[in-house]
Amino acid sequence: MQEKIVIKGAREHNLKNISLELPRNKMIVFTGLSGSGKSSLAFDTIFAEGQRRYIESLSAYARQFLGGMQKPDVDEIEGLSPAISIDQKAHSANPRSTVATITEIYDYLRVLFARVGRPHCPECGTKIEKMTVDEMKDQILKKLKIDKIKKGELILLSPVVRGRKGEYYQMLYDTYNSGFMEVRVDGKMYSLKERIILSKNNKHTIEIVIDKIPLEALGDQRLSEAIAKAVDLSNGLCTAIFGDKHEQIFSTEYSCPKDGFSFPEIEPRLFSFNSPYGYCEACTGLGTKEVFSEEICPKCQGKRLNDTALSIRVNEKNIWEVVQMNIRDAREWFAELDMNLAEKEREIAGMVSREINNRLQFMFDVGLHYLTMNRTAGTLSGGEAQRIRLASQVGTRLVGALYVLDEPTIGLHQRDNDQLVKTLRNLCEAGNTIITVEHDEDTILESDWIVDIGPAAGKHGGEVVFSGPTKVLLGK
Ligand SMILES: [Zn+2]
Ligand SMILES: [Zn+2]
Repeated sequence: MQEKIVIKGAREHNLKNISLELPRNKMIVFTGLSGSGKSSLAFDTIFAEGQRRYIESLSAYARQFLGGMQKPDVDEIEGLSPAISIDQKAHSANPRSTVATITEIYDYLRVLFARVGRPHCPECGTKIEKMTVDEMKDQILKKLKIDKIKKGELILLSPVVRGRKGEYYQMLYDTYNSGFMEVRVDGKMYSLKERIILSKNNKHTIEIVIDKIPLEALGDQRLSEAIAKAVDLSNGLCTAIFGDKHEQIFSTEYSCPKDGFSFPEIEPRLFSFNSPYGYCEACTGLGTKEVFSEEICPKCQGKRLNDTALSIRVNEKNIWEVVQMNIRDAREWFAELDMNLAEKEREIAGMVSREINNRLQFMFDVGLHYLTMNRTAGTLSGGEAQRIRLASQVGTRLVGALYVLDEPTIGLHQRDNDQLVKTLRNLCEAGNTIITVEHDEDTILESDWIVDIGPAAGKHGGEVVFSGPTKVLLGK
């Protein structure tokens, strides 16, 4: 690795065939009057060449999508790293972009919700769990132990009909003929030997009694067999009545044991308002009636997602409620998230919450604590937008990159300014080079190296007035 970036013969715009050397892994500021040529050197020469080389290094396949880039007017640049530029122009007019999406926090949230989110039935609010027969067995045994239930029976039922109209005469008859003795209809036990008369205009719930196991005789195998049988007859459901009459319904699918509402596979795309799996059908994820209208979608009330996506919760909040929080509150919520997850979930959530925490912490440090994660891109100021894009870069923790920034401290209060400088300093220490085009005196004084382009603007500029360590310029 070279220790310097060497630029020879730069002539872009008004630059007068200038040559200079810059240290790597340092904070470098480019100063000069407006129009002096400092941006031509930082963005149009150094960044442009860094990006061009990066694209050249990619496969022909990738290049065809990115397009060729023109070589800037410069003889040679040595020691360049992959370059990342973050300027203040509004890049995206996508009405769907928000603070959470620009920083990629939303992508990580989608993974988090898909992995550890707990589904609730959108119809009745019941918590829904997907379990294997083995997991149901463990859960039942655990409950008996925790609640110290030792007397009576464990009754296992198969809910074959749930809240549907009909007389079910034939079905009950067939059930009896296959060897079952009892059913529970609408919560009441009946012997199948007697004729059970149901009103065909009322909705009924019918559960076949699979086994009644005396708790003294409870064995693994008998329990497993009964659960498997119950699940088989009902297509995935098993009701367990414990000795104390408390009961619980288990499901092998993500479906509501009460009314049968069935969830699709819970994947990250379910939480995307750009995807037909996740978006509100009425507004296709825009949250408003039309693309640029202010009128809120009556179906989702601006939440942009469908009911299924919104009924999955992590630590009691759905994904929309999470992005309603501002950076300060979100940071606290995520800091406490670990404590509210089971050990297995914590492991899964670990990587994802680290990425989210890095970004939230960065935005908090640079004074963006007041922004809600749901703020749309179009309503951000240039300075806010730049710091947000920087947050996404910090989150990825690139090493050996060259960042080219345009006045990152613009519009910041002193305290936030200090924090941003400190954060940029950390990036340098992690092995990155930072070039900022800057007017702010404090930031200039905090830098390691100054390049002053001038002496004036336009054709009277374009020359290197000074390039050297900041402390030399200050006479320290
Ligand atoms: Zn339900
Ligand atoms: Zn909608």
